[in-house]
Amino acid sequence: MTKNKSALNVMKGIDVPETVSKDAAKRFLSKRKKELKVDEAVEGILSGNISILSAAITLIESNLPKHQKKAAQIIEKCLPYSGNSVRIGITVVPGVGKSTFIEALGLYLINKGHKLAVLAIDPSSEQSGGSILGDKTRMEQLSAEKNAFIRPSPSSGSLGGVARKTRESIILCEAAGFDTVFIETVGVGQSETKVHSMVDFFLLLMLAGAGDELQGIKRGIMEMADTIIINKADGNNIDKANLAKKEYENALHMFPPTESGWTPNVLLTSALQNFGIEDVWLTIKKYLELTKKSGYWLQRRNNQAKYWMHETILESLKNNFYNNTKRKKLIKDFERKVQQGKISPFEAAHMLLNKYFSK
Ligand code: GDP
Repeated sequence: MTKNKSALNVMKGIDVPETVSKDAAKRFLSKRKKELKVDEAVEGILSGNISILSAAITLIESNLPKHQKKAAQIIEKCLPYSGNSVRIGITVVPGVGKSTFIEALGLYLINKGHKLAVLAIDPSSEQSGGSILGDKTRMEQLSAEKNAFIRPSPSSGSLGGVARKTRESIILCEAAGFDTVFIETVGVGQSETKVHSMVDFFLLLMLAGAGDELQGIKRGIMEMADTIIINKADGNNIDKANLAKKEYENALHMFPPTESGWTPNVLLTSALQNFGIEDVWLTIKKYLELTKKSGYWLQRRNNQAKYWMHETILESLKNNFYNNTKRKKLIKDFERKVQQGKISPFEAAHMLLNKYFSK
């Protein structure tokens, strides 16, 4: 660990705090010593048992084939009870005050009698093997609420795999009675597209005063937004926030009309001072009313289901192809030959695939 003394490596020394849910799941599994049965899991989830919900999500996240099989059966049985939540994507730029915002909006909803699940897709998981700080420590008040369930991003695997697991977790959360689900991500890579493909409403949280480039925000992400929020609109920052609001409003006007018929808007919030939080929820409600009436909401959910069928097929094929000891060795051999220019990448791919399909 002392190999590299660069300050950039300090993070590696920090223990990743466990979350309530993961702890609960582990305790639950270790207390029982034997594994959760499918029917027991489904019954527990439908009765709103959080420990069982957590344990079932742990099965979804596991890469062991026997866990995956069990998870698939649990999901299948929960499916008829799912679909009834408002699914909200929250994409943030770094430093925007994500945890403070989610906590403020979350507590507002809990006080209104909602049951809220907060799930995540962490773009860093592919490289770092997990987020650096757990969500529990950052959303202390919200995680203490019995009607809130906070679960960090699955911590390993490809982005596609992580997103699929989050998508499946939504189903279990809905079956457990959560009527509102947040899916959060930091919009610096591809994860925001995955989030967009599993939610009804897409919020983009930005900061005033830092240019789009500085915030790492691509035009494509802005185009996905149903509402852009400029957080930290307080204190000395108010003028800058108002200016940014105008700029973003102008930028949104340049985009082509949305398929949903909704006109994306820009809101100011101060999560710290609880300003503008109610407006966010009222906006979401207005959007739902409009899109449910027009039929767009259902059409979008149906299209998302189709998309996820294909994503699941692609992921299974990929896993099946790559997770084979003999083939791994063969792939390495071919990689070497390709690098040495002894064979073209296309020929190598065709030979490997032909071998796979004729097995
Ligand atoms: P995250 O890293 O994006 O999850 O950000 P946090 O929610 O942990 O907040 C980072 C810092 O920004 C903290 O010091 C917060 O107190 C501060 N912060 C969050 N929201 C606001 C806000 O609305 N206004 C101001 N002035 N500060 C905020």
